[in-house]
Amino acid sequence: MIDLKDFEYNELEEYLTGLGEKKYRAAQVFKWLHEGAESYDDMTDISKALRARLGAETYISTLAVEKKLVSALDGTVKYLFRLPDGNSIESVVMRYMHGLTICISSQIGCRMGCRFCASTIGGLYRSLTAGEILNQVIFAEKDMGEGISNIVLMGIGEPLDNYDNVVKFLHNINHEKGRNIGYRHITVSTCGIVPRIYDLADEGLPITLTISLHAANDRLRSSIMPVNNKYKLSELIPACKYYVNKTGRRLSFEYSLIKGVNDSAADARELAALVKPLAAHVNLIPVNKVEERGYRHGSRTEINAFRDRLTAAGVNATLRRELGSDIAASCGQLRKKTIEGRNAE
Ligand code: SAH
Repeated sequence: MIDLKDFEYNELEEYLTGLGEKKYRAAQVFKWLHEGAESYDDMTDISKALRARLGAETYISTLAVEKKLVSALDGTVKYLFRLPDGNSIESVVMRYMHGLTICISSQIGCRMGCRFCASTIGGLYRSLTAGEILNQVIFAEKDMGEGISNIVLMGIGEPLDNYDNVVKFLHNINHEKGRNIGYRHITVSTCGIVPRIYDLADEGLPITLTISLHAANDRLRSSIMPVNNKYKLSELIPACKYYVNKTGRRLSFEYSLIKGVNDSAADARELAALVKPLAAHVNLIPVNKVEERGYRHGSRTEINAFRDRLTAAGVNATLRRELGSDIAASCGQLRKKTIEGRNAE
């Protein structure tokens, strides 16, 4: 059976015209799907005969919420969803001045192996379908009773390791007949799968790309991010330049500060030298503690000093505001806890 949410708009149109329907039916069905219709019977402007036909050949995927946590500190909402195959994924909704931002997952687990990341510990189970990626946004909008204005693909998984489904999702969420969320309001974060960065640049989608850098030399980067053994900085940086030139969009880098690992004055100098020619923005994130590895972040003073060194070197750097720290809001943390809890039962 086909999940209707896995069709791109033109595929839905083809499918429906193939059933003898007029083209405008696609607009009606697409709109219902993106408004969160969970059954064909909700689609009241569609004939009963077509609803029955759709019901026989397709289904509408939905998400079941397993846990919802609301931060008492800042109202950040974290959802743990249960998929029909028993797996869990996470999404986080944060409120900023300009509206709601959702951070969504692109895979169940991850095979990139970054040593500081909770999402990768059990490896990759599978990639999410385009419909499953979309459902996180639809569910959150319904539950919050408010439209989402920004989307970041920074939850569980490596979006560029699920390239086709992620691009399909981007097309659908941007489509004028559906949610019509502007590409400029969407950020894709990658650990640096170089060939896919070129592909993404060539798609012509003006989304924001952010690169999880975390180290400015190959020795250090390879020791904390295995992907760097495959794609060295000497390949990653030209790919970033290509992305910027091709899309005209600015790039940003994520840099998680790990005490004693990548947060020295020399690290700041090296980072500044690497990113300055790209005129890129650097987002500094105090690393979330990883007990297994003994990783933790430095003091507020040390973190500020690192930022000030970048700023003094002419790099635009900001410190990520921590939201939802009381609800394990960072990616992969809740899923990991839940799996551990289930295993202990
Ligand atoms: N796979 C993608 C997106 C998911 S991770 C990527 O690598 O970009 C979202 C961000 O959180 C990445 O920058 C990731 O490196 C970072 N991250 C993962 N674990 C972290 C931790 N323990 N502390 C701080 N940042 C972390």
